[in-house]
Amino acid sequence: MMDAVSQPDVVVVGAGAAGVAALRACNAAGLDAVAVEARSRAGGRAHTVTVGGFALDLGCGWLHSADRNPLVAVARTLCLTVDERLPPWQDPRAALSFEPGAHGAFRAAQAAFYARLEAASGEAGDRPAADFLEPGGRWNALIDAVSTYVNGVELDRLSVKDFANYHDTEVNFRVVEGYGALFARLAAHGRIAYGCVVSEINHGGRRVRVETSRGALEARAVIVALPTNVIAQGRVRFSPDLPAKRAACAGLPLGYANKLFLAVDGAEDLPENGRLFGATDRRDVGAFHFRPFGRPVIEGYFGGALARDLEQGGLEGFADFAIGELVRALGSAWRRRLKPLCASAWASDPFALGSYSHALPGCWDQRAILAEPVDGRIFFAGEATSPRDFSTAHGAWMSGERAAAEAVRALNGR
Ligand SMILES: Cc1cc2nc3c(=O)[nH]c(=O)nc-3n(C[C@H](O)[C@H](O)[C@H](O)COP(=O)(O)OP(=O)(O)OC[C@H]3O[C@@H](n4cnc5c(N)ncnc54)[C@H](O)[C@@H]3O)c2cc1C
Repeated sequence: MMDAVSQPDVVVVGAGAAGVAALRACNAAGLDAVAVEARSRAGGRAHTVTVGGFALDLGCGWLHSADRNPLVAVARTLCLTVDERLPPWQDPRAALSFEPGAHGAFRAAQAAFYARLEAASGEAGDRPAADFLEPGGRWNALIDAVSTYVNGVELDRLSVKDFANYHDTEVNFRVVEGYGALFARLAAHGRIAYGCVVSEINHGGRRVRVETSRGALEARAVIVALPTNVIAQGRVRFSPDLPAKRAACAGLPLGYANKLFLAVDGAEDLPENGRLFGATDRRDVGAFHFRPFGRPVIEGYFGGALARDLEQGGLEGFADFAIGELVRALGSAWRRRLKPLCASAWASDPFALGSYSHALPGCWDQRAILAEPVDGRIFFAGEATSPRDFSTAHGAWMSGERAAAEAVRALNGR
């Protein structure tokens, strides 16, 4: 294949946020690096599409921890528009789903639950977060629903210790042109071979050999920047096998989250930046963001098993569920005012197989194990390797820079 690049110093496997960061950092350090990417585009789980004239993020949308997120400055340097409005989950005016007084009660129950998790995270063993729900608590279902949005998984499969390790400054910005568009720009001039589905990374020989659907490459080092499920499910194999890495990936599965966008006729009747839950007494509900950026659009967010199941129905089936929830809350006249624009389907996406990683109970220590280099020539990046910012795009980005620095050190020292 790619004659000129078939023997580079470094092959980066996967050109999502982590892979793009790793590629740029290797090139900046003077290494001859190339990325191989299965899709026909860069960005992976960061993906902006333009539908109905709007730039819509099917994957990541929020620059979380924006006051220390390096991508805020990167976006501004690229002349993208950073929107600093409060997210609806922090905007006190946005609590549309609740009876008077009930929003405060929910927030208090949720805060008490998080405090119990925090306290438990300091204890010796690891446990499922669901153990710390108040028995019979009025808000348990909604607290669990929020876990499916935040963690991609229900609380019974969420490690308390891993959850406590996540660090969020609670400052959240957005890129008006799309978070995915930011990564597309960052990848634009990189040496990325698209449509290259990697099947095996063979590290038995003097050089590491990467087998792809477009031929093989050999390199002095490889940076693996793949989603955990791709490795756990054997879509990309190591030869000789790396069982500790496979086990780490299995302990850090990607949960599920999906978005559905609806165009709204007469959107001015909805409060800008409002937020509505499909219900407050069930776990399997959507969270709806009204008029993001002031657009005549509703952005629906669905997590966990519900998100995985909804994408099976295609755009139409997915929209039926979402519109049903909205009509129950807003009134039947809204049915004809809502039109589906697009939806994500990350669980069945063969190059993601899910949305973002969480640790299963007992597996909180696997992120560090996944991040460890092998033989000074196989390096690991990707959101799941981030100690404090896992599950995010900036965590992925920083992990790519970290893995590249490790590769540069190793190759320069040789
Ligand atoms: C619905 C949703 C909402 C989200 N919201 C936010 C948010 O608001 N804020 C936030 O910070 N994060 C959010 N995230 C998470 C964020 O998108 C991810 O954590 C981040 O983009 C992961 O980057 P990555 O580089 O680790 O992995 P990926 O982006 O998955 O990159 C891996 C790359 O490897 C490629 N690949 C896979 N298999 C192969 C193969 N066999 N051969 C070659 N290449 C392969 C993939 O195509 C992909 O490009 C969200 C994600 C989803 C799905």
